[in-house]
Amino acid sequence: MYRGGYTGKVLRVDLSTLTAKEETLPPDVARDYIGGAGFGIKYLFDEVGGNIDPLGAENKIIFSLGPFTGTTVPCASRMAVTAKSPLTGAVGMALTGGQFPTELKRAGYDALIIEGKAKVPTYLSIRDGEVRFKSAAGLWGMNTLDCQRVIKDDLSDQNIRVACIGPAGENLSRISSIINEMRAAGRKGLGAVMGSKNLKAIAVRGTGSVPVASSDKLKAAKGEMARAMKESPALYPAFSKTGTPSNVDNTCALGIFPAKNWTATGEFAPAREIGVEAMKTRNAGREFCSGCPVGCSQLNLARTGLYSGILAEGPEFETMYSFGGETGVDNVDAIIAADRLSDELGLDTISAGVAIGFAMELYEKGILTRGDTGGLDLKFGSHESMVILLQLMAHRQGFGDLLADGVMAAARKIGRGTEKYAMHVKGLELPAYDVRGAKAHGLNYATSYTGADHNRGYAFQEIFGIPVPYAVNRFAAEGKGKLTKWNQDVRCATADCPTMCVFILDMAVPHMARENTAALMAAVTGNEYTPDEVEKVGERINNLALAFNVREGFTRADDTLPDRLMDEPLRHGASKGNVITRDDLALMLDEYYTARGWDRDTGIPGREKLEGLGLGYVADRLGR
Ligand code: SF4
Repeated sequence: MYRGGYTGKVLRVDLSTLTAKEETLPPDVARDYIGGAGFGIKYLFDEVGGNIDPLGAENKIIFSLGPFTGTTVPCASRMAVTAKSPLTGAVGMALTGGQFPTELKRAGYDALIIEGKAKVPTYLSIRDGEVRFKSAAGLWGMNTLDCQRVIKDDLSDQNIRVACIGPAGENLSRISSIINEMRAAGRKGLGAVMGSKNLKAIAVRGTGSVPVASSDKLKAAKGEMARAMKESPALYPAFSKTGTPSNVDNTCALGIFPAKNWTATGEFAPAREIGVEAMKTRNAGREFCSGCPVGCSQLNLARTGLYSGILAEGPEFETMYSFGGETGVDNVDAIIAADRLSDELGLDTISAGVAIGFAMELYEKGILTRGDTGGLDLKFGSHESMVILLQLMAHRQGFGDLLADGVMAAARKIGRGTEKYAMHVKGLELPAYDVRGAKAHGLNYATSYTGADHNRGYAFQEIFGIPVPYAVNRFAAEGKGKLTKWNQDVRCATADCPTMCVFILDMAVPHMARENTAALMAAVTGNEYTPDEVEKVGERINNLALAFNVREGFTRADDTLPDRLMDEPLRHGASKGNVITRDDLALMLDEYYTARGWDRDTGIPGREKLEGLGLGYVADRLGR
C-alpha cells in the first residue's frame, strides 16, 4: 500500500483506559496532507469537537511525523505537536527537532494520538510497537532534564528518547512547553495539555528502518539539495557556525529588534552586547538534529557573575529577543541562564519573556508596585528579577501565578486598561520582529491560525531581502495580502508537513522549495506532485485550520494586532516613523482574504472554496 516514507500506522493511546491500539493511516490522508502539521490538523479538526475545554479529557494531543523523517533526507528529523491550545483556544501546533522524531518513526508510527486522562501521574514507554504505561509518581515535580535522565535509567536504555513536561506543564501554565533533549515544542501551551492528562513523559525507542520508493530518484533529489546547500552563501559559511543569534545583528540594523515591551525598538538595540560577536565568547560547541549536516544549534556557557558555569543549548534568536530585547536585559549570561532554566521548567521562552516584559512596563508606569510583585524590582533590565520570576511562574507561586497563563490572561486579571500593553494576537505572545518595519510579517501575525506566530508565514523577503517569489518594499502595505498567502501556504507544504527544517528552505532552496519538496516526495513516497499541487496542500491545511478556528468562534475581528503597533510609530532606528495603521491593516486583510478566496467581511471560507480543496465535509460540518 505504501511504497516508502510512511509506516502506514497511527498509534492511538487512551489514558483513561490505559489502552493502546494501532490504526491504519489512510493513503488519501497521506497524499492530501503529506504529514507533520497536516496530519495533526486533520486529526484535530476531525476528532476534537468545538467548544471543549483544552485542559479537559476531551482534548487530544497529536505527535505527527513527516514522510522523510527516519530516511536519509537531511534536516527532516522534526515533528509537529498539535492540540486545541489552552492559551488561545485556537489550533495549537508547534514543531520540534532533535532525535525524538526519528526514534518515533523507527518505532513504527507516522503519528501518535493521545486522548483521555490518566488517573495518576503516568509516563508512556513505546518500544518498537510495545506500549507500556508506567507510574510517574516519582517524576512529578521533576525538571525536564532530570526527568529524561531518570527515565533512561528506569528503562535501562540510554538510547531511549524522551519528550516530557516540567513543573510548568504540571501546574497547567498556559505558556508551558514540551521538551525533548533541550529542544522544545514551545508555543501555545502544549505542555499544559500533557499536564492536564497527568502525562509526564513519552519515552520512545525504535529500531526499524523507513523504506524509500526509489533510491535512484532519492540520490538525485538529495544531490540537488546538497548542491544548493553548498552554494548558499549563508548556510555553511555563517549560519552553521553562529546559528540564529546572528539575526540579532540583522534585526537591530533594520530597526526591528523589539525592545522593552515594544516601546523602545531601535533605541535599545543591543547587537554589541548580545549579538553574534558576544555569543562567540560563550560558545561551547554545537549540536546537530538527526541527519543534519549543518548543526546550527549552539551550546553556550555563561561565564560571569551569578550565572557562571550554566550551559544551555541556545539561546536561539527568539530567546535573545524575549529575555533580552523585550525585557531590556543586555547581560548575555543572564539570557543563557534564563534559557536553560526555561527548558528545565518547561516554559516557552518567547511567551515567558513577553509576559515579564509586560509586567516590567506596568511596573515602570506605576500600575504594578513592589507590593504587587512580592518585593521584586521589575525595572527594565532587572535580570535577577527575570530569572526569579521564571521559577515563580512555573510553580505558580506569588506574583508568578499572575503571569503563568500569558499576557492576555494577566491583563484581564489586572484590568485598569492594561490590555493595551499586552503584546499578543489571539492570546499568543508576539515573537521577535517589530512588524511596524516589516508589514507582510505583521499581516502574518494577524492572520496565522495559531496567533502571532513567526513560523507559519515567515516573510523572509522583508527580513533578509530574498527576492522570492519577488522583491518587496518592507514598509509598504500594498501587495502584502497575496505574498502572505504564498508564504503561509508554501511554508506549510514544504516545511511544516514534510517536517523539513525551515532554515534549509530559507537559506538554500527558497527559489525551489516547492520543486524540492515535489522531487523528494516522489523519491521517498512514490507520490507524484507538481509544484502547484505541493502548494495546494499548504492551502488545504491553512483552510482546514481556519475552519477549526471558525468553529471555535474566531472571525475577522480576531485577525488584528496590538493597539501599540497601530497607534505608535517607531521612534528610533532604521525603521523610524513606520507604523501599521488601522487602514493599512484593513487594506492588507482585504487583499489577503481576496487572495484566499474567503469572504472579505468575515474572513471565512465558503462552501465553494472548501470543496475546491477537497474539504466538502468541512463545509458540511460548518453548516455552509
Ligand atoms: S539546520 Fe539546525 S535546526 Fe535545522 S535541522 Fe540542522 S541542526 Fe536542526
